[in-house]
Amino acid sequence: MQPMPDEPLRVSVESQIRTQIPAFMILGLASQVIQESKERVIASFDASGFEFPRRKVVTYLGPPETPKTGSCNDLAIAISILLQDQKDLPDPLYAWGELSPTGEVKQKGYMAQWCELLIQTPGTLIAHPEDLRELGQIFSWRVRNRLTIPKGSSIASCTHLKKVFQSLKEVTPLITHEEGPAPLPSKDTGQDLPPLSPSLARWLITALSGEHHWLMLGAKGVGKSTALRWAESFSGPAKAEDTWLRMRHLESWNALETRPVRRVHSSAKPTHLLGSFSRGCYIPGDLIRAHGGILFADEFPEWPRDTKETLREPLEEKRVRLTRRDGIIDLKCHFQWMGTGNLCPCGGTPARLPPDPKSGRCRCSDAAAQRYLERLSGPVLDRLDLVTWISASHKGSQSPEAFLKSLLNARMKIESHYESPPGLWSAQTCEKLISKNTHLEQTLSDLPNLSLRSRHKVVRVAATLAALDDQSGIEISHVTEAFQARPESWLY
Ligand SMILES: [Zn+2]
Repeated sequence: MQPMPDEPLRVSVESQIRTQIPAFMILGLASQVIQESKERVIASFDASGFEFPRRKVVTYLGPPETPKTGSCNDLAIAISILLQDQKDLPDPLYAWGELSPTGEVKQKGYMAQWCELLIQTPGTLIAHPEDLRELGQIFSWRVRNRLTIPKGSSIASCTHLKKVFQSLKEVTPLITHEEGPAPLPSKDTGQDLPPLSPSLARWLITALSGEHHWLMLGAKGVGKSTALRWAESFSGPAKAEDTWLRMRHLESWNALETRPVRRVHSSAKPTHLLGSFSRGCYIPGDLIRAHGGILFADEFPEWPRDTKETLREPLEEKRVRLTRRDGIIDLKCHFQWMGTGNLCPCGGTPARLPPDPKSGRCRCSDAAAQRYLERLSGPVLDRLDLVTWISASHKGSQSPEAFLKSLLNARMKIESHYESPPGLWSAQTCEKLISKNTHLEQTLSDLPNLSLRSRHKVVRVAATLAALDDQSGIEISHVTEAFQARPESWLY
């Protein structure tokens, strides 16, 4: 198998031994890493007491037109040479593992992808016992979550190439058992959370229940990080499908049953977000790790420009695409984005906004403040539904119990009112809603400076607010409230 494409790729391995001058060739668009398999396989033969054929060995990797990479096919290549004349082998026989020069089989992970492959085509898998144990855990997880499980497959564990014949005599059916890894301890229950003002709580409930990307801007110390703390505590359970995809994309079994929360620091480079390749294998970055959960972007205006730009495609297309010399990936990836930022370099409140009791007035020059704001503008800002000004002037505090109750209630209402959370609606869905409601169309056209994109954002947020108020249609008050979360209404 090839690790890390969106769909697992079945690599066929077949070897021929010809009576010609001794040589060893691997064909089928094999990468440099696979070419190096030759040395590992020959050394493993020696270390295991097998004689490597003193003839011409040609190994074909199929499908011939697909590039292949990774050291994970070492065991399959060795077996295809060793068992070249053997009859009565399990069909199909899968092998998974890197060989060390001493002949040991190494654990390689990616077992969720193996699970997927065995659902498509059941067969017998020979691999390191730890990999097989992980496979068993994944099956159990699928049983518990009522997802399809592979049937009719068997396993053979192998720790050393010299034991491969014995392993194939000890093939056992792959049985799933109910017990999986123990559930992770639940996140904090809200006891130690700093106070959250009711107005910030309403925006947070709107963002979480409607799945809106949200940027909070404001002076230092006004409670932006508090909102992130609350979001983390109440992010809720992960959907089984999202956890499944994350398991497949991450290199090892990782049964996070709460929604993942990834915090990205302002010094992050594009590779931290997108991931990178190592020895031909893709190492996922924060975007993939946040799939089905939340990505926190602290001090967003401070992010390097190229790191900001990498968010464009994942936010819009919900995919991570990466093309490098070592490999190409194109993976589904969907997360909720929440960011924070100051309004100027000094972290004060600019003169054009009402004064804030907790923060001082901005001391920056006009040019410096303007340059700072320019860092915000651009394609990413265009993709956020909520861009709100946070100030400390709001009084009062929400209790965690009341917050949780309102959030669960909001999620239930969104589910009963709409097919999907408004934050995920396409432009067409928004236009369809507008065309059915002349009242809404008029209200939107009365709003100043509203671009087409912004218009859809107002509709999405207003739809969430309407559901929160349990209204079947969007009212003027919802549009007005949603417009407050547009940068056009307050930032410029
Ligand atoms: Zn300033």
